[in-house]
Amino acid sequence: MNTVAEKSTIKTITTHYIDGAFVESHGQEVMDIVRPTDGQVIARVRLADEEDTRRAIGAARRAFATFGRTTKEERANILRRLHQAVSVRVDDLTAAMVEEYGGVVQFARPIVETGVNAFLAAEKGVQELPWTQSWGKTTVTLEPVGVAGLITAWNANALFICLKLASAVGAGCTVVLKPSELSSLQTQVMLECLDEAKLPQGVCNVVIGRGDVVGAELVRNPDVDKISFTGSVGVGEGIMRDGAATMKRVTLELGGKSPTILLDDAALDQAIPAALLMAFLNSGQACAAGTRLLVPRSRLDDIKRRIRDAMRAFTVGDPADPRTAIGPMVSQKQYDRVQSYIRKGIEEGAEVLAGGEGHPEGFAAGYFVKPTVFVNVKNDMTIAQEEIFGPVLCVIAYDSEEEAIRIANDSKYGLHAGVLGADLQRARRVASQIRAGRVVINGMTDDPQAPWGGFKYSGVGREYGRYGIEAFLETRAILES
Ligand code: NAD
Repeated sequence: MNTVAEKSTIKTITTHYIDGAFVESHGQEVMDIVRPTDGQVIARVRLADEEDTRRAIGAARRAFATFGRTTKEERANILRRLHQAVSVRVDDLTAAMVEEYGGVVQFARPIVETGVNAFLAAEKGVQELPWTQSWGKTTVTLEPVGVAGLITAWNANALFICLKLASAVGAGCTVVLKPSELSSLQTQVMLECLDEAKLPQGVCNVVIGRGDVVGAELVRNPDVDKISFTGSVGVGEGIMRDGAATMKRVTLELGGKSPTILLDDAALDQAIPAALLMAFLNSGQACAAGTRLLVPRSRLDDIKRRIRDAMRAFTVGDPADPRTAIGPMVSQKQYDRVQSYIRKGIEEGAEVLAGGEGHPEGFAAGYFVKPTVFVNVKNDMTIAQEEIFGPVLCVIAYDSEEEAIRIANDSKYGLHAGVLGADLQRARRVASQIRAGRVVINGMTDDPQAPWGGFKYSGVGREYGRYGIEAFLETRAILES
C-alpha cells in the first residue's frame, strides 16, 4: 500500500519502493518539502538511510539474474507498459512539478510529456540496436551492464526518471533510483506509475534520500555496476572519483553555460523572442538554458532596444497560470545564489538592461527573482563563465563570425548551443564548429532519438533513444577457434 497520507494540507511520505512493494522507511530523518511560491511546508518525507539503500540494491541484484536475460521483445513490452502507466498521469506529474518546484506550467507540461515519450523512444532504440552480430567464427552480443544506480536533479525530476529508467530497462539492467529529495511529490506519482506498470519484482527500486547518504552508498557499493547521474559538476566529479574504487561505469549529465549565436543576417522579429525563450527556459533553472547571447556589434543598439521591449512578455507570476513565463526559484538557497550573481555582475561592470537585484514588485513572499538581462558583458566575467541556474542572461557583442564561434567555445561547459540566422547553410556551418553535445538552429527544439549530453565539464556519455541505451551496455565477443 502506498502511504501518502493527506494530513490537513501537509502530505506525509514514509515509504520507498523496494522489490515490487511500498515499504516503510528504515531511515528516520524527516525533511520538509517547501512550496517555493510562499515558503510554506507542503509535505514531510521520511528519508532513506544506507540500510534502505542496501536493501534496494540487493533486490536489484537478485532481479538482474533473470531480467538481464530477457529478450528485446519482453523489454519492449515493459517499455510500452511504462509509457501507458505514465501517460495517464501527465496532469498529476505536471501539478506536482508546479507545486513543489515552482516550474511554470507552460514548461512543466512539455517536460513531463518529453519524459512520457522517452519510453517509446527507448522502445524504438531497443528494436534498432544490433543485439547480436556475427561474422566468420565470431559473435558479438550487447549485454546489460548490470545493476544501475540512477541519481536525478530537482529541476526536471520526472523527466530524468523517465529518461534514465527507459534506457536502463531497455538495456536489460535492473535499477535503484535515487531521485532528488527536493522532488518527492513528483517521485511519489512516478512510484504509483511503476507499481501500475507491474514490472517484474525488483527490476526498479526507488529510495528517496539525501545524496550524501543514499547517493554515496550507491556510488561505493560493489553490487552497483553503473551510475547514471544528472546534477552539478562538483557532485559529478566526486562520483567519478569515488566510483573508481569499484570500477563504476558512469554517465554524468552536468551543468552548462550555453551560448546562442545570433548571426548578423537573423530576422530580429523572430530571433530575439527565440533567444530569450532559450535563455529563460524553466525560469532559467535549466542545464540547457542559453544564458550567453552573442550578438553582432553592428546591430547592438537595435538588439538592446528589442530585448528591452520583448522582456515585457517574460512575466513573473503564479507558475500554475499558463500565461506565466517565470516562476520562483526552487529554494531560498537558489534565490540567494541568483542574487549573489546579479550583484557580482554589477560589481564586475556589466550593465543591467532589465531586472536587477531583489524580488519583483508584488512578489515579496517566496523565492521569486527578477528576470535579468546584462549587456556590456565580457566573456571572462564571472557571470559569463559560471552557471547561475536562474533567469540571468548575458549579452556579449562580437565583431566577426570567427570571433562569435571563439567566444561560444570559450567556456568550460559544452552541453547545448543555439544558432539563429537567415542563411541555413551558414547557420549549419557555424553549428558544426561549436563544441557542444547539442546545437539547435533557429529556436529551441527536441528530438527524443537525438543524443543528449555534454562536451568538457558538461559531462560524460549520452542519454535519449538508442544512445541512452548504449550507455547501459557492455559488448561480449565469442570467438571459436
Ligand atoms: P546536485 O548535484 O546538488 O544534486 C543532484 C543529485 O545528486 C541529487 O539527487 C542529490 O541528492 C545527489 N547527490 C548530492 N550529493 C551526492 C553525493 N555525494 N553522491 C551521490 N549523489 C549525490 O544538483 P542539483 O542542484 O540537484 O541540480 C542542478 C545541477 O544539475 C545544475 O548544475 C544543472 O546544470 C545540472 N543539470 C544537468 C542536466 C543535464 O542534462 N546535463 C540536467 C539538469 C540539471
